[in-house]
Amino acid sequence: MKHRRTIHGLLTILMMCLGQAGHPSFGAGQFGPTAADTSFRADAMRVIAVRAGRLFDGKSDRLLEDQVIVVRGDRISEVGPAARVSIPPGAEVIDLRRATVLPGLIDAHTHLFLTGESGGRYDEQLLKESWQYRTIEAVVNARKDLEAGFTTMRDLETEGAMYSDADVRNAINCGLIPGPRLQVVTRAISTTGGYPLEGYSPEVTVPSGVQIVDSPVEARKAVREQIKYGADLIKIYSTHRFHFTPEGKLVSIPTLTLDEIKAIVNEAHRQQVKVACHAYGGEGLHNCIEAGVDSIEHGLDLDDASIQLMIEKGIYYVPTLYAYEYEPEEDLRATGGKTSRARIHEQSFRRALARGVKIAFGTDVGPFPHGTQAKEFEYMVRFGMTPVQALHAATSVAAELMSWQDRIGSVEKGKFADLVAVSGDPLADITELERVKFVMKGGQTVRNDLQ
Ligand SMILES: [Zn+2]
Repeated sequence: MKHRRTIHGLLTILMMCLGQAGHPSFGAGQFGPTAADTSFRADAMRVIAVRAGRLFDGKSDRLLEDQVIVVRGDRISEVGPAARVSIPPGAEVIDLRRATVLPGLIDAHTHLFLTGESGGRYDEQLLKESWQYRTIEAVVNARKDLEAGFTTMRDLETEGAMYSDADVRNAINCGLIPGPRLQVVTRAISTTGGYPLEGYSPEVTVPSGVQIVDSPVEARKAVREQIKYGADLIKIYSTHRFHFTPEGKLVSIPTLTLDEIKAIVNEAHRQQVKVACHAYGGEGLHNCIEAGVDSIEHGLDLDDASIQLMIEKGIYYVPTLYAYEYEPEEDLRATGGKTSRARIHEQSFRRALARGVKIAFGTDVGPFPHGTQAKEFEYMVRFGMTPVQALHAATSVAAELMSWQDRIGSVEKGKFADLVAVSGDPLADITELERVKFVMKGGQTVRNDLQ
């Protein structure tokens, strides 16, 4: 009678799933009550055996043949060669012997609350759509991303929809709606003049895509507020406006001062919360690295000194390549066809990769359609990564960035049963990840087109 629960049991579940997803503490935390996630949804006694023709387990660099993954409840209880791991009697068998199984994918930079951005769409969302309507859009987007194989995401701010991402995260954790495991930013932080909406008359009050701060005191208070209302991590915009010089150099105008960023990082870290920094290059990038943020998002224009400091300080790079390949026309017009952010970005990515910066997979999906972000893999490989490196970026490395390496990022005993499968060999053709055919999250099958 798996649906019969006591009132007390239901209340406990509700209290557990309405809390934050579990602050991604700096170390590999233990599975505490905050890790409840989907655990109550999968019947604890339910046993599934996944037969994998080939397995990329996220630890080894090659495909393992003919494997069995035993799932009990929402966790992996055993994994190994079919010759060694026996299928428990009574287990439900999922036959993926003609497929390649991988760990559930992690997108470390998403925007569930964006559905398009260019052509006035961004302003339309903030000006004409209520937070409630935008939350409905986010629910639809979360399902698309999950069905595309992204079982975990870091959602990097709601773009004006306030704290609604915390509600989406909680609803997913409570089992009300399907969606990836989420760490959410809530509002993000920039300065007056440092973020849209822009271009309106000073007489008209318009909403802002972020929380605005203009001193270290305000910056620290914003961090405290955001954590209070559900932020799992803090996101700041340290550069905003940009232009190209006649020589085709990218100039990025800083927003927050070094003192403001130091206040943000200090307050977040003393509350064991990480800080993601949106930066293109120049002073804004340097300030974030000096202040000790945990990740640089985009990092279009990384100089050698910044790359060196990122390595020394262990700062992750989340490049989001495809987002800049998606619509290059504006940049090409601005530079007379000379260059674009995409081409400058490619050079930064190649140098960071060659020097050994920790690179986590992130896509900035939202401005382009949800569920299509596996396109990022193709660009990572085109710009120098091996397919294995790209897969690690979207599994074990991204899991470490989120401090969730104890629960996701590999197919391993004790971790959540988050699995995807593709028909072909992703090590030979990385675009296989654009055609995910099977998705399981926490032991629950989300889709299976391989039956
Ligand atoms: Zn973004």
